[in-house]
Amino acid sequence: MTIDPLMAQPVRIFDVSLYLRCPRLLYFQAMGRKVHPEAAAPATLLMREVALSLSEIGPEEAADLGGWLREALERALVELPAIFPDRMNPHDLQAAAEEVGAWAAEVAPRMVLALQLITPSTVEVDLRSDRLGISGRVDRVVSRGDEDGTPNVKVPSMMRVDLPPEAGVWRSDRLRLAGYAMLLEEKLETRVDLGLVEYLRAGEVREVEIRPTDRRRVLRIRDRVRLIGEGKLPDRPREAPCDRCPVLDACETRQTLASKFF
Ligand code: SF4
Repeated sequence: MTIDPLMAQPVRIFDVSLYLRCPRLLYFQAMGRKVHPEAAAPATLLMREVALSLSEIGPEEAADLGGWLREALERALVELPAIFPDRMNPHDLQAAAEEVGAWAAEVAPRMVLALQLITPSTVEVDLRSDRLGISGRVDRVVSRGDEDGTPNVKVPSMMRVDLPPEAGVWRSDRLRLAGYAMLLEEKLETRVDLGLVEYLRAGEVREVEIRPTDRRRVLRIRDRVRLIGEGKLPDRPREAPCDRCPVLDACETRQTLASKFF
């Protein structure tokens, strides 16, 4: 069945990631179930907040990145309870501050190089294309200079708290970036051939070429996400991460019912 993208709500890039984890999670999400194993831990939120503020760093401050990160952490500790009032308690925040403080001290030397790849930039940019039927919020849009130094190339960049693979980036990160690249192209009416993944724990930024196969894959996943939203139960993937799945019981029940009928 072909779906007219203009007639439907845009599919979120976030749901493309969920589909890649397990398509059935989208089915249960559409039924109103909570499908995320756990809310982001305070340390994750804190780390992201510190990393987001790197967009504001000037060249002089970058010379003492360790000191700057400590100050950014102090600021985030004050602001985070106001940003996520229902997800912070003082005890958890204190433990998170110790973890993130140790992280900042460890990654600061590596981040000096990474910083050049992600600044200047604008953070948390909302993007939407009714023509393509997708939408999303990208963590950062970096402005890159051309040969004479004039910033004229835009690069989408996403943050991941996980560690990176040995080489390149994780497949789901590559596909998400292809989605953001298509959205940025539509917004800016310019070609976007490159994306970045910021692997925060490792203090590394990796570049990704935006490939045609990844663009096509995102658009096909968009179609499948829509069908699932309309009530089509997807097959259970063989490699699905069922161990810690919050909808395991409901999923097994559906499986049993299906095998009774067929
Ligand atoms: S139990 Fe497994 S197959 Fe079912 S939704 Fe969860 S991860 Fe997917």
